[in-house]
Amino acid sequence: MSMLEDAKKQLDAAFKYANINPESWERLQYPHKTLQVAIPMRLDDGTLRMYKALRCQYDSTLGPTKGGIRFHEYVSRDEIEALAFWMTFKCACVKVPFGGAKGGVCVNPRSLSHRELERLSKAYIDAFADFIGPDEDIPAPDMYTDERVMGWMYSEYRKIKGGHPRDIITGKPVALGGIEGRTSATGYGGFFVLDYLLKNHRWKFKIPPQDELTIAVQGFGQVGYWFSEICYRNGFKIIGASNEYGGTHDPHGLNIPACRRTLDKSDSKEWGQGEKITNAELLAMDVDILVPAAIENVITKDNVDSIKAKIVFEMANGPTTNAADEILRDRGVVMIPDILANAGGVVVSYFEWLQNRTAEQRSEEKTQKDLKDKMEYATSRTLVRHMEYDVPMRTAAYILALKRINDANECLGNKDYFAFS
Ligand code: NAD
Repeated sequence: MSMLEDAKKQLDAAFKYANINPESWERLQYPHKTLQVAIPMRLDDGTLRMYKALRCQYDSTLGPTKGGIRFHEYVSRDEIEALAFWMTFKCACVKVPFGGAKGGVCVNPRSLSHRELERLSKAYIDAFADFIGPDEDIPAPDMYTDERVMGWMYSEYRKIKGGHPRDIITGKPVALGGIEGRTSATGYGGFFVLDYLLKNHRWKFKIPPQDELTIAVQGFGQVGYWFSEICYRNGFKIIGASNEYGGTHDPHGLNIPACRRTLDKSDSKEWGQGEKITNAELLAMDVDILVPAAIENVITKDNVDSIKAKIVFEMANGPTTNAADEILRDRGVVMIPDILANAGGVVVSYFEWLQNRTAEQRSEEKTQKDLKDKMEYATSRTLVRHMEYDVPMRTAAYILALKRINDANECLGNKDYFAFS
C-alpha cells in the first residue's frame, strides 16, 4: 500500500464519526496539484547532475497551501503527497488559515558541498517560482533544509519576481524577515502539548508524575533537539536519544545541551554520554514516552511488538503505520498524533507570514506565548472530540480538522443546496 493510501485511512476513520457532508470527503481524496520536474545542478568538479524535485499542493480549502521542502535520498511522489495530505489536516487541526503542501528534492544532502547546496536550493526555486506564491503556496524548512536554505530560496525568488516578497517563504533567517523562535517552534510546540496533557489529564492517560517519567527521543535535528532541550530545561528525564548514526542510553538522564555540543564536534557521531545503542534499541526502550522525531514509517508491524512505551508522542510526520497504530492502541498505548504534536512549526510559520504581510516586528516572547496558547487550545479541542466520540486522539484530531474543512466547503454550497435552485 502506498504511503498516501495508508495516510487516507486516518481520514476514513474520522469520517465514520464526524457528521460531515460526503462531498468534503470526496474533495479530499486526491492531491489537487503535484508538479514533478528534473532540476539541473553542476557539481563543484564541473559534472552536470539532474535531480528529481517535487511540490504537491494537496488541498487549499482553508487558504494558501503551506508545507516544508525536504532534501532526502528517499523523496518520492508518494511520500511528498502523503506529507502534503498530513499538512492539510495539521493546519486545520490547529486552526491556521492554510491548506497543505509539501516539496522535496531526491538527493543525499550530506554528499553536497555548501556551494552545491546553495545552487540546488536556488535551482529548486527556478523550477517552482510560478507554482508557489505568497497567496498560493508558501514553503518552509523540513528534513535537511534549514534557515540558510530558506534564505537562499528567498533570495532566488526575489531575484525572479522582484521587490521584497518576504511572505513567500517562512523559516527564513531573522535578518531576511524571519521570525525569532521559528527554529525551535516545532519542538517547543510539542512540549506545550505534552505539558498540557500532563498538567490536566495525567490520570486519564495513566502518565506517572514528572519526577518518575522517562522519555526517549529518536531524531536530534531541528525537531528532536529543541523538543529535548525544552524538556531538559523543565526538569524532564530524557534517558535515550538517537540520530541516523545511532543513539545513546543513560538511565540517569542525558544532559541535552552537552550532547549537542559533542555531536557538533564529531560530525553527529559521538554523544559524549551514556552507552551506545542502535535505533532499533532506542525504539524498544522501556520508557513512559517514546518520541519519534526523525522520519516516517519507523514504527511498523515488523517492530511494533518490541515497543514498550506507554505513550507514543509523534513529533515526526507519519512515524507510525496504520497497522502498527492499531496494534499499539489495542495494547492500550496512547498515541498522540503528529498532526497535533508537531504543529508548532506551522503555527509559528503562520506568525512569520503575518509579520511579513503587515511589516510588524514580533518579539520572541509574544511568539512563545501565542504558540503556547494555540497549541493548548488545539489540544483541548482535540480532547473534547476524543471524549465526545470516544475515539483515539488521532481520530479526534482528524474529526476536528475535517469539521473545519467541511464548514468552509459548506459555505460554497452542497448537493442539497443546488438541488433546490
Ligand atoms: P532534521 O533534518 O533537522 O533532523 C532529522 C534528524 O533525524 C537528524 O538527527 C537525523 O540524523 C535523524 N534521522 C534521519 N534519518 C534517521 C533514521 N533513519 N533513523 C534515526 N534517525 C534519523 O529534520 P527535522 O526538521 O527535525 O524533521 C524531523 C521530522 O519532523 C520529519 O518527519 C519532519 O517532516 C517533521 N517535521 C518537521 C518540522 C520542522 O519545522 N522542521 C515541522 C513538523 C514536522
